[in-house]
Amino acid sequence: MDLIDTLVEKGLRRESPTRDEALAVLATSDDELLDVVAGASRVRRKWFGRRVKLNYLVNLKSGLCPEDCSYCSQRLGSEAGILKYTWLKPEEASKAASAGVAGGAKRVCLVASGRGPTDRDIDRVSRTIEAIKEENEQVEVCACLGLLSEGQAERLRAAGVNAYNHNLNTSEATYGDITTTHTYADREETVRLAQGAGLSACSGLIAGMGESDADLVDVVFALRAMDVDSVPVNFLIPFEGTPLAEEWNLTPQRALRILAMVRFVHPDAEVRLAGGREIHLRSLQPLALHLVNSIFLGDYLTSEGQEGKADLDMIADAGFEVEGMGTTTLPAHRARKEACGGGSCGPCGDADAAGPTEAAGSAEIAGSAKAAAEPAGAAADEPGAARTDLVAVRRRGAGTDLPPNA
Ligand code: SF4
Repeated sequence: MDLIDTLVEKGLRRESPTRDEALAVLATSDDELLDVVAGASRVRRKWFGRRVKLNYLVNLKSGLCPEDCSYCSQRLGSEAGILKYTWLKPEEASKAASAGVAGGAKRVCLVASGRGPTDRDIDRVSRTIEAIKEENEQVEVCACLGLLSEGQAERLRAAGVNAYNHNLNTSEATYGDITTTHTYADREETVRLAQGAGLSACSGLIAGMGESDADLVDVVFALRAMDVDSVPVNFLIPFEGTPLAEEWNLTPQRALRILAMVRFVHPDAEVRLAGGREIHLRSLQPLALHLVNSIFLGDYLTSEGQEGKADLDMIADAGFEVEGMGTTTLPAHRARKEACGGGSCGPCGDADAAGPTEAAGSAEIAGSAKAAAEPAGAAADEPGAARTDLVAVRRRGAGTDLPPNA
């Protein structure tokens, strides 16, 4: 394919595709899918080899957010039966982080629901980082605490934070359709504040919210213009109890095309496969490793991922290797700020762009995401049909007495 050959050549030179070329990647047919993946895979290997960085989410504070992001299970008025708790104690967060590190993660992503942190919250998070570093001195820390105020990014950096996650999520043109309590410009400003303080910027998107191809391309190019180090790609988890509960409009093939497009536009940035990978890519997950160089280990913020061991097995079976603690994630020309990679996290970043299904308090959900309930009926196999059976609320790890999945 001339298109893919052109994009591979550009990617190897760190050049951006044109907007039309990015749109053309999204418009390729299923017959062309493996050619698209193979091309983007060459770009991925050029800048990241066969390494896969593992990140581990610790949800420091879950639910009860006053903001109204329609994709989020923690939003104002959400009826999703998620865990709800206030700030974890430093030792609780450190214990969860240690489980992730023991499972192979080199970065922990500390996430808190809410519009943004107060200065007291920054103190709290600073104490948590201290506790984490006491146990795991080398671990990278990404914070994801919502909209930042002046001076807060500098305080986080002084506390040992390497990266800050705050996703743009969707195009500027459609941002008002998914959230009304803050703006796209607010989000851009927080990314800039983080960059201005010397933090590695992690900012990405959520696909599958009913957006157009043009919207996806717009947000991916906006992130390139901001020169972010890490681009988390979430696929909407349509939690029951949220306004987007019926938005099941991704296929595994489309998810791969989106990841390939993001790789071509961000050839040398960390592209991180985030929330929704299990439920939307399903058996095609290993192909995504040829496009992204970073994933989350185990569970997400409010939903369960596949077992951590299954993540590790998938990486090994596909011929990739887990990136070690001493390895710098980003290529040398991009690596800056003390060998920090880039991070991505949750809600205010949304590494779990939704949360599950289920009535609050029902105990039988406690298995893995794959331990779903009823088998899907024939209608549910149609693209776009609801697959609520694939979504499971997180019921283990942070905020519970059960061991974390790592
Ligand atoms: S994404 Fe963040 S700010 Fe938005 S509702 Fe969820 S927790 Fe609140």
